[in-house]
Amino acid sequence: MNVIIMLKGTKVYSITRSKCPRCMEGEIYPDKNPYRFKTMTDFNPRCSVCDQNFEPEPNFYYGAMYVSYGYTVALFVAVYIIFGMWIGWTMWPTVGALAVMLVLLAPVIFRISRTTWLSMFVKYDKNFKKNG
Ligand SMILES: [Zn+2]
Repeated sequence: MNVIIMLKGTKVYSITRSKCPRCMEGEIYPDKNPYRFKTMTDFNPRCSVCDQNFEPEPNFYYGAMYVSYGYTVALFVAVYIIFGMWIGWTMWPTVGALAVMLVLLAPVIFRISRTTWLSMFVKYDKNFKKNG
């Protein structure tokens, strides 16, 4: 917990906690639980703290698909190393483990991909002007 707080101001902090990448305080998603399917894809249009626009242009999040692809490949490699090489499972159980992980982690990957994509374009600004 303290380690995460120390990271405030970095992209890791914003991405892991789904915080606004500009002020690191506002929430991007109205519902913090990514596993609630009804609200999974919802995000706030603007930051409630610094007024950062969370959708800078139409279809902005198309690019997040590439980030999602990157995280999926990383998961692939991690599962392969842990189950295939470290535990020593054969191919099909390893593929099964990967499929289960992909399904279980899909909502998380979906969100962190979007947050990562957004934080690639929005810089941390510790002197942000509070609105209101
Ligand atoms: Zn903000």
